[in-house]
Amino acid sequence: MSTPRAAARIMQRLEALAALTSDPPRLTRVFLSEEHRRANELVAGWMGEAGMRARVDAIGNITARVEGKARGLPALMLGSHLDTVRDAGRFDGMLGVVTAIECAHHIGAGVLPFALEVVGFGDEEGVRFGSTLLGSRAVAGTLDPQVLEATDRDGISMASALRNFGLDPQRVAAAARRREELLAYVELHIEQGPVLERAGLPVGCVTSINGATRLLVRLQGMAGHAGTVPMSTRQDALVAAAEVILAVEQRCAQEQHLVGTVGRIEASPGAVNVIPGECSFTIDVRAPEDSRRHQAVADLRAAVAAISVRRAIQAEITVMHDSAAAPCAPWLMQQIDAAIAAQGVVPQRLPSGAGHDAMAMAAIADTGMIFVRCLGGISHNPAESITVEDAQAGFETLCRFVRHLDQARRPLSPGP
Ligand SMILES: [Zn+2]
Repeated sequence: MSTPRAAARIMQRLEALAALTSDPPRLTRVFLSEEHRRANELVAGWMGEAGMRARVDAIGNITARVEGKARGLPALMLGSHLDTVRDAGRFDGMLGVVTAIECAHHIGAGVLPFALEVVGFGDEEGVRFGSTLLGSRAVAGTLDPQVLEATDRDGISMASALRNFGLDPQRVAAAARRREELLAYVELHIEQGPVLERAGLPVGCVTSINGATRLLVRLQGMAGHAGTVPMSTRQDALVAAAEVILAVEQRCAQEQHLVGTVGRIEASPGAVNVIPGECSFTIDVRAPEDSRRHQAVADLRAAVAAISVRRAIQAEITVMHDSAAAPCAPWLMQQIDAAIAAQGVVPQRLPSGAGHDAMAMAAIADTGMIFVRCLGGISHNPAESITVEDAQAGFETLCRFVRHLDQARRPLSPGP
């Protein structure tokens, strides 16, 4: 179906994108920056070589379209993001955009019974304005206009950053697409985890993007002299927190694909000779199904309450973040599996522990995701790496999926 030339070009283009950084030799490219503008120009050039006319939409995403057998058909949208975290790898996001362009190039215009669109979202990571998925949320029409007032660390608002980029902040809503215009959104992305590598598989099919709950727990005990207060009468907030942390680990280890993390903790007064009177920490819980996540969170709330009562501690829990899981559409998963199997690879299904643009796009389209194995599961790190063979496997999976996509298998009502 294709030659390894595709993968060679994909790797070359990723290298070219990696050179567009505000922070050499590290790779950092944030939303609406000069590097973002240059990345859009580079990608637009490649879209042109692939026979597509590129345009920058109202929020700075770069998009292009190939018509199918007739003009104006609903589009299968392929893509991912072009922004990075600070000191990033060169594959997260970019691999999906570059592979989609290669795919559109190979297939060409006037061939498919639907249109093909490629998008490079301008913001997924949320590094600059502290709010993630800005590009894809604008396309999905779910962007909160309030975010235009958010400022970066230099005090520049998103509205003025848009103006500096040559865009009109008043017109951001024009980036939104309608459900009828889209057949589906399919994103190829590096796994950012170790599952495919351990299974010895180059690619896999994502079942769902995990929903997440983030809690802030504040425990109030009683500070006291580390030398004089007997062990039996202490109200040590940090020891109570230690017990909660173990409860998080225990509860989340009970179920497959459920994960829980305490990533930040502070104790005060924080002195070597004082019993910690106060302690606050975060709990991050994720699962592919919302019901399982909600049950785990309820159990952890109960554990905090029980531990606090036993230790005479006051506990207060605040929900900092709660996002629903985004299940992939079964009709797309079946056809991604088929594209994987057709290459002689065992189709492996796996949930995504990380968020992706597909999460935002799920608001207006059925979504599917193809994961590509990455070295050691390492991501958000300059050591992020994939092999040229796996880039080829990703390309062939996506291309075969697009060529053979049977839209008759799409359910009449929109997917989950
Ligand atoms: Zn990403």
